[in-house]
Amino acid sequence: MPLCITTYARIVSLTSDLIRRGHFSYESGHHGDTWLELDLLITNPARVKAIAADLAETLDPYNATLVCGPLDGGAFLAQWVAAALGTNFAYTRSDGLPPALPVAGHRAIVVDDAVNAGHASTATVAALRAASCEVIALAGAIVCTPAGLDVGPRLGLPQHFLEEVSTQLWPADECPGCPSRWNAT
Ligand SMILES: [Zn+2]
Repeated sequence: MPLCITTYARIVSLTSDLIRRGHFSYESGHHGDTWLELDLLITNPARVKAIAADLAETLDPYNATLVCGPLDGGAFLAQWVAAALGTNFAYTRSDGLPPALPVAGHRAIVVDDAVNAGHASTATVAALRAASCEVIALAGAIVCTPAGLDVGPRLGLPQHFLEEVSTQLWPADECPGCPSRWNAT
């Protein structure tokens, strides 16, 4: 979606220091040429709040009643988005949705800090749907293109991101950079 120049300049300044280029192995089992230092994002609440405000402006028409994010990163942005939208908040862990969180019957937007292969977002959507929660959209600060742009359509969800980061991504056994260029974490 097009952004006004002021918003675009602010978002670029908010995220450009997060991007590392090289050869990386991800938890999803994929390899790629980009690493996002997302811990630098969540340790700056003023920056997270600004990103959440921009996302909330776009997400307001959905009339969501819940915003949910994976605890390993996205939840810290999701909670700010929930506050900006005036909705409830929930999170998922690597082992699923904490049973005490009331999500059944809600209309939820899943928010992650960055979406690449979409592993965490997909697991969060599945956990909410299994708990009788209607998921209505996917959103995030950053989408790694082109792989991340497939995640919403694959889940049957509209998606909204503030910034696109061009990224090469391969299944590990198809990575053209392995092992000759292996040089990173
Ligand atoms: Zn590789």
